[in-house]
Amino acid sequence: MPRVLLIGWDGADWRILEPLIERGALPNLQALIDRGQKGVLRSTVPTHSWAAWPSFLTGVDPADHGVYDILETVPGTHKQYPVTYESIKERTFVEDLSAAGKVGVYADVPLLFPPPDINGKIAAGGVLPKGRTYTRPADLAEQLEKAGVPWVINGMSWTTYRNRPEQYLDEALEITGKRIRATEWLMDNSDWDLMASVWVSVDRTQHALSNYVAPDHPDYEANVKTPIGWKVRDVYAQLDHALGSFVSRTRPDDLVLFISDHGFQSVTRTIQMDHLLKKFGFLEFSASNVVFGPMQWGPVRKVARKVYDRLGLHGKVSLPQSVNWSKTKAFTTIRSTGEGVSINLAGREPDGIVDPADFEKVRDQVMDALSSFVDPKTGRKPVKAIYRREEIFKGKHADTAPDILMEPAERYSLTHAKSALEDADWVSGDHRIEGVIVAAGPNVKPFEQPPMLVDMAPTILAALDAPATIEHTGRVLHEVVGSDAKVSRAEPSKPAVQIPAMPSGDEASAVSDTEADEMEEHLRGLGYLE
Ligand SMILES: [Zn+2]
Repeated sequence: MPRVLLIGWDGADWRILEPLIERGALPNLQALIDRGQKGVLRSTVPTHSWAAWPSFLTGVDPADHGVYDILETVPGTHKQYPVTYESIKERTFVEDLSAAGKVGVYADVPLLFPPPDINGKIAAGGVLPKGRTYTRPADLAEQLEKAGVPWVINGMSWTTYRNRPEQYLDEALEITGKRIRATEWLMDNSDWDLMASVWVSVDRTQHALSNYVAPDHPDYEANVKTPIGWKVRDVYAQLDHALGSFVSRTRPDDLVLFISDHGFQSVTRTIQMDHLLKKFGFLEFSASNVVFGPMQWGPVRKVARKVYDRLGLHGKVSLPQSVNWSKTKAFTTIRSTGEGVSINLAGREPDGIVDPADFEKVRDQVMDALSSFVDPKTGRKPVKAIYRREEIFKGKHADTAPDILMEPAERYSLTHAKSALEDADWVSGDHRIEGVIVAAGPNVKPFEQPPMLVDMAPTILAALDAPATIEHTGRVLHEVVGSDAKVSRAEPSKPAVQIPAMPSGDEASAVSDTEADEMEEHLRGLGYLE
């Protein structure tokens, strides 16, 4: 029976990979393309890892798995927690594969914490609280330690390395090197049907240092031949070397999939969506934000956080005092990327002020303001596309989606700024929807239809002849698995992981309040929160 090796480079984009391939810097990726097919893999809206990896895991759009942002709000409150595996309100292929008796091994796949009870092995990825079991079986971390290939969690908090690229790159290379050795050990010591590993150093590096590696960034020419430029390319060379090492462990009839969860674009101008809403008169900040809001970067922010704690201003996860709800008509609801805004609707939001009768009028006003807004410095519109919720989301959890969705224009990030609009500071790249895919295996043919991230779950199940228990939004990529392969349907052997419809108190999250605070600190380091 053929097996599947899946390698994800979080944030990989052909804009950056192709020039590196042309320089001969990625020989193993080149070899994989030579014996397979490459294409653009369309991600999700919103275009960030915390919505995209759940779509990878389930094969459905965010409206069907319910994860739109790095934080989820406890219904009827302003209380927010980091999303976890339990936030995914649809059954994943990870569980379906396991139910079919297939062995899945997962290394650093985001959103697999807390690890589900499966036939196989998991070293969970994403942002993890310390001191909790993040592996399946529970002693896997110990096994790796004993084997001399210890797993390391978290790290690469690029925003805390502001203007210290050398130190950031040292950490990225060191942590990734350790994870490569552990992943090789997992491949050699497991009888896997699916081996899936995700590599995040590409994403983290491109956020901070696209200006050294993306040829369309205006500073690229000046930076590319510097020592930092070389070291940035080492991040890709390290992962390419690992790709060769993993592929060398496959058999000729195995399917190899190389993907990213989203692509990347160069950024020279940044927005802070709540500040932009304030500029248009839709939002008011409270006094505490005036004091602490500007303290965004690195060590200064750490001090600000301590002050927050001392003053008791520190909320559960977010800093809920930052918005004056009684004077706010619209606010950011995809805080990690600024791509989502909601109306402060009475009866739905805890401190809603917009009368339901005025909802459409206010939403139109907000959409008009955001979509017609022109950056005076460039003469360009930072928002490339804007949608009403119902234009994008039709699934069963569409009611918890933001009311307004946006895509940033080229060279713009809708987050990472300290004010409404400014020159990019310690950020030179952000996400875009066009990711990458390479497939190599005995049945691989050129893509007839554009492949999408939501196609991965049904395709993996079809490749391994395992039935699905849910209806996927995505399709089986016959160009990858052959025209005969299909996914049969089965009833789930046990209920899909579900969180209660109206969670309250401690059941609201898979993590405690203290763990949520700790995870939030990592999320700040990754630029997902201010
Ligand atoms: Zn990212």
